[in-house]
Amino acid sequence: MPVRLPLYRDDAVVLRVQKLGESDRIITMLTRRHGRVRAAAKGIRRTSSKFGGRLEPFGHVDVQLAGDFNNHARMLHTIRQAESIELYGKNLGRDYPRYTAASVIAETAERLTPVEHEPSLRLFQLTLGALRALSTAEHASTLVLDAYLLRAMGTAGWSPALTECAVCGSPGRHGAFSVSAGGVVCPDCRPPGSTRPSPSTLELMVSLVVGDWSIADVSEAAHRRECSGLVAAHLQWHLERELRSLPLVDRSNTEGESA
Ligand SMILES: [Zn+2]
Repeated sequence: MPVRLPLYRDDAVVLRVQKLGESDRIITMLTRRHGRVRAAAKGIRRTSSKFGGRLEPFGHVDVQLAGDFNNHARMLHTIRQAESIELYGKNLGRDYPRYTAASVIAETAERLTPVEHEPSLRLFQLTLGALRALSTAEHASTLVLDAYLLRAMGTAGWSPALTECAVCGSPGRHGAFSVSAGGVVCPDCRPPGSTRPSPSTLELMVSLVVGDWSIADVSEAAHRRECSGLVAAHLQWHLERELRSLPLVDRSNTEGESA
C-alpha cells in the first residue's frame, strides 16, 4: 500500500525545471506560504500530460502538492495539479536580455532560500513582482534585475549601506564604497581597496531600493553599468560567505541536467 501523503495547495513561482528520468521532471518553486519546494511532476513529458506547458520556468502557478513537511527523508514532494495564473516565461523566452535577467532572478531566489520549506513571503512577492515587471517591459531589464537583487538581499539582511557609513553608521551620502565593509563608508572608516563610484550611481542604487522609478528610468547607461557592477560584487561577496557557513546545502546528485 502506498503511503497517503498530506495534500496542500499554494501558489508558486517556478524557478527551475530538471530532468527526472524519461518522462518526469523536478520542479523547484518558490511558494507563497511554504518557502522553496522541490516537487516531482510525473509524466510531464508525455503529450497527454495533465500539466500541459504550465510548469515552465518563471511561471506563476496554483499548485496542489502531496508531501510531508515533517518527513525530512522525503523532501521531494509531488505535484498533483497545476493551474496557470500567469506564464511569464512565454513572453520572456522571445527576448534574450529579459530572459537572462529572469534566469538570474530565479537563481538568486533559490540561493537566498538554502533551507527548503522555510516561508519567505517578502522574497516570494519580490520575485513574482520582478518577473511581472520583466514581462511587461515597462523598465529596462537591468534596472528591474538590480532593484530585485538589492531588495532580495534585504530579505537576507545584506542590504548595502547607502545613506550612512556601513562601519560607524554616521549619516550622509559618503563617496567611497567597500563591498567587504558592506556599502558606503565615511572618510574615517574607509578601508583600503574601497572604490569611488559616481554620486549618480549611488543615487541610482538608492532609487532602486526605494522604488523611485522616475529617477531610475532616466539614469545614464554608464551609471547603470557601475550600479550593476557594485550590486553583483556585493551579492557575490555575501553569497560566498553564506555558502561557506552552510556546508549542508542540499545539492543532491539524484538530479539530471537542467531541462
Ligand atoms: Zn564611518
